[in-house]
Amino acid sequence: MRSKLSVVLVLIFVLALAAISPAQQPPPTFHFDGNSWWSHVKVLADDSLEGRDTGSEGLRKAQAYAVEQLQKAGLEPAGANGFYQVIRFNQYEVDESKSSLALVTNGQARPLSFADDAFISSRATRKSANISAPLVFIGYGLRIPEKNLDELAGLDLKGKIVVYIAGSPADIPTALASHYQTVAERWKSLSAAGVIGAITILNPASMDIPWSRISVNRNHPSMDLADAEFNDAPGQRLGVVCNPASAEQLFAGSGHTFAEIAALGKDRKPLPHFALAVSLNADAVIHTKTLESSNIVAKLAGSDPALKNEFVVLSAHIDHVGIGAPIGGDRIYNGAMDDGSGSALVLDIAASLKAHPERLQRSILFLLVTAEEKGLLGSKYFAAHPTVAPKSIVADVNVDMFLPIVPLKILKVEGIEESDLGARAAAIAESMGIKPIPDPEPLRNAFIRSDQYNFIKKGVPAVKCDVGFELGAPDQKIFKDWLTHRYHAPSDDVSQPVDLQSAATYEEFTRRLLLDTANTPARPRWKPDSFFRRYAAD
Ligand SMILES: [Zn+2]
Repeated sequence: MRSKLSVVLVLIFVLALAAISPAQQPPPTFHFDGNSWWSHVKVLADDSLEGRDTGSEGLRKAQAYAVEQLQKAGLEPAGANGFYQVIRFNQYEVDESKSSLALVTNGQARPLSFADDAFISSRATRKSANISAPLVFIGYGLRIPEKNLDELAGLDLKGKIVVYIAGSPADIPTALASHYQTVAERWKSLSAAGVIGAITILNPASMDIPWSRISVNRNHPSMDLADAEFNDAPGQRLGVVCNPASAEQLFAGSGHTFAEIAALGKDRKPLPHFALAVSLNADAVIHTKTLESSNIVAKLAGSDPALKNEFVVLSAHIDHVGIGAPIGGDRIYNGAMDDGSGSALVLDIAASLKAHPERLQRSILFLLVTAEEKGLLGSKYFAAHPTVAPKSIVADVNVDMFLPIVPLKILKVEGIEESDLGARAAAIAESMGIKPIPDPEPLRNAFIRSDQYNFIKKGVPAVKCDVGFELGAPDQKIFKDWLTHRYHAPSDDVSQPVDLQSAATYEEFTRRLLLDTANTPARPRWKPDSFFRRYAAD
């Protein structure tokens, strides 16, 4: 009796130990010091790689380096061609010398300056076009049935060019607003209404980059996946991007001003919708060519007989924007943080798992995608044509420009409320003494602006986490300044200050999130009330 009781007590003690959550266990030693990460960043962002543009020699060099590192870490190739998955692209370039835009009032045409007023977007103008069409202002241009929002209702849009301001009303949840602002979703409703083209006015309240810097690189060629299955905006004939500082002339004679619209848009208030008094003449000459670029895919196999056939994806984009207009005498857009930082993390985590192996039940897929800067194209291709069974991907942890420029005290978790992967990321952050928060700046649309979004659309729970700040805290200005001066600029290079301890802590967080997801028997699931759960149907 007695001895039996002691056995039971010991058992209870053992079970209690096993049930202690990670938060209560003594923290395992850190696996990172920031230095190995930084050494990878230095290679990837070196001037000799010329900013790693999709299709360029510089990107191929970066990829060769990555493959060498992944091999060194003992990973298996998991692409279609060894570590590589080759993808075909079309490239589009506006020939401004043969193109023009003009606003027409009472038969009088007034030309717009490409540099200062508005330019033709080759991303949204795939073929040469000569168009004259009336303009209609459609607010944010959103149709969101879930929230009974239909900004196109009651407007005659057939054969028209619509004008909208980037953004969304405040009562629309971030993820939902982001989703409906994607090219594909937006075009579905515009196209159904008979629209032939669109002018996007950038929202001064959410511009990461000042107009001068956007404009100076406006003629950088755009790309799309060559296969027709990937055309997100069939039938769109023209896309124009408008400088908010020049937008007032679109509203002349309409009874409204852009100042009024911008003020409402800043506070995410509902916007009016009305026909404009001016129409647009557009002559767009587009040159096209084809090229190839690859994703890199590597695998660290799990050991569980069944679960090893399931994959947790760690993704980052290895491409950047290449060589562009000189700023301060520098033409190389090195992309040290965007996303040399994430690519370096992928290589560093692979190395850490070789140096300090962990028992893995599921397998981990290390994915370095191409053409993120061209519109998330490499990940779009991979999500549509994965090199492992599509249903075997259980989660995507995407790392893009996590910005270790301040100590990691706050972690912004994109997708925190959408799935239990988000909840797990939050719990792991908390266990490390880091405060997890949802996106404090929903207007920036970050949820759809990196590669995780292509996994989400295939039903795969995903998160993207970044070193963050709380609104109003002094750190906010550091991030704002970084975006204004370094984001997509030549100064995103290795001469900028970074916090190596912050990077190391972020890597440790990511490693724990991967291992925890690989070793938790249940797959991550969408929250029952998540909008994105619909993609996981069946
Ligand atoms: Zn970027």
